Amino acid sequence: MRTPIVGGNWKMHTTRAEALALLVALRDGLADLGGVEVAVFPPAPWLGDASNILEGSNVAVGVQNVYWEPRGAFTGEQSAAMLVGAARHVLVGHSERRHVFGETDADVSRKLRSILDAGLHPVLAVGELQEERDAGATMDVLRRQLDGALTGLDELPTTLVVAYEPVWAIGTGRTATPEAAQEACAAVRSMVAERFEAAAASGLRVQYGGSVTPQNIEVLAAQPDIDGALVGGASLNAEAFIAICRALAAAKRI
Ligand code: PEP
Repeated sequence: MRTPIVGGNWKMHTTRAEALALLVALRDGLADLGGVEVAVFPPAPWLGDASNILEGSNVAVGVQNVYWEPRGAFTGEQSAAMLVGAARHVLVGHSERRHVFGETDADVSRKLRSILDAGLHPVLAVGELQEERDAGATMDVLRRQLDGALTGLDELPTTLVVAYEPVWAIGTGRTATPEAAQEACAAVRSMVAERFEAAAASGLRVQYGGSVTPQNIEVLAAQPDIDGALVGGASLNAEAFIAICRALAAAKRI
């Protein structure tokens, strides 16, 4: 059985006051919830606040980005090693990093390695553009992004989570159908099984991300290869995010 995992990617949103209120609401609102792992990814300036407020709670802290070098003359960047103690999870390969900031598969691979080397838990995002889906290239894109990120690894890291996030569904209100999301998440698992061992891949947690809301989470969570959600917009609303976490815990309860 795979424990479901939900991530809340706040992107570059929230004032400090909004962040503090959201952190407290999530800590308190999720205090009684078991059977699901929850992480929030606030903007870097609020990481200290997040660590303090969420310490000992059911909600882990994640970061949205790292650079692969451990230290050096890299103005504006932060290394994975610097985040040890402040965060547990790190997003890597998010479509906004790939398509707004031009990160390549090779960059994603270097970042993933540095996250693993630091002992942090990577959430690797993969997903196709609308034109790639229209051209029937979704599976090729997923394979290229997975192969690119996982190159050089002898074993599947047990801490790795993969988030399937079709780019056309992110922040658009256009969620993938449960069938399309299931197909892609199952494909991610079988591509990982081909690369490593089937047994390891069967333990891999694969999230769906792309306009997840309390209204659509139930049908998505009912899919056998969807083990959680990576949530952007709805993670900025405590009530909505808590509802998503509760729906996932309920759907995956044995
Ligand atoms: C995301 O940022 O990863 C995301 C899925 O955003 P949204 O839920 O707003 O589509």
